[in-house]
Amino acid sequence: MTPRIALVTGGIGGLGTAICRALTETGHTVVATDLPADAARLQAFSEATAGAVHFEPADVADDGQCAALVARVQARFGALDVLINNAGITRDATLRKMDLGQWNAVLQVNLTSAFQLCHYAVQGMVARGYGRIVNISSVSGQTGNFGQANYAAAKAGLHGLTMSLAREVAAKGITVNSVSPGYVRTPMTAAMPQAVLDKTLAAVPVGRLGEPADIARAVRFLCEEDAGYITGANLPVNGGLYMSF
Ligand code: NAD
Repeated sequence: MTPRIALVTGGIGGLGTAICRALTETGHTVVATDLPADAARLQAFSEATAGAVHFEPADVADDGQCAALVARVQARFGALDVLINNAGITRDATLRKMDLGQWNAVLQVNLTSAFQLCHYAVQGMVARGYGRIVNISSVSGQTGNFGQANYAAAKAGLHGLTMSLAREVAAKGITVNSVSPGYVRTPMTAAMPQAVLDKTLAAVPVGRLGEPADIARAVRFLCEEDAGYITGANLPVNGGLYMSF
């Protein structure tokens, strides 16, 4: 396999760490980007990824930092072949209580950052005739979720971005897909009230929370060189919580 350079946003978070590890296992050179982190968090990340992943701090909510990040990765590693838009936040509230700040913060990190990074990264991919982009959406985007109008709108929007960009770059050797996790064991779900989590689990046919590695395997599959005929797709990884055709 040609060595490929991969950038994973939210790369030192729960899913991000597993995605970075999975991509290193298939020979990718992997760069994690995330908000600046303290030494203890970076040490834990380094141990979880066997010291094999580079770290480039950036706030992907900031357009200038997105542009600079892509330029830095390309300058340091010579290319950017694989982009995983995984950074995400929640600011949950029922719509009646949600303010514009909560709406904008979630749209900026979960949707606009993906637009910006695709915008900057895709130019080099087109020039080289190869690219793999995976946007981490969510089952909440497919079904909506109580208290998550902002999050569900961003995640549904992300798949709209996926399908549109997929059409625009398909002839250039670039695939663009979404992965929609259900409920996965990460800090994001650890923050959910236990009663809500129990109720959610009762609706999962597989009968357990997802593990970060379950999601990472799906992402890695879509990033394989011979996955070139899969584009504009959404791959749900949700234990059967939501099935559709
Ligand atoms: P997490 O909180 O562990 O990781 C998210 C990471 O994004 C964190 O490391 C955080 O620092 C980073 N981040 C946040 N804002 C940022 C910014 N402005 N710039 C750069 N980095 C930023 O959460 P996770 O569970 O690993 O979630 C990863 C992705 O998966 C998110 O997009 C989330 O919406 C999605 N997702 C998660 C679940 C789940 O059950 N955990 C389910 C569906 C979808």
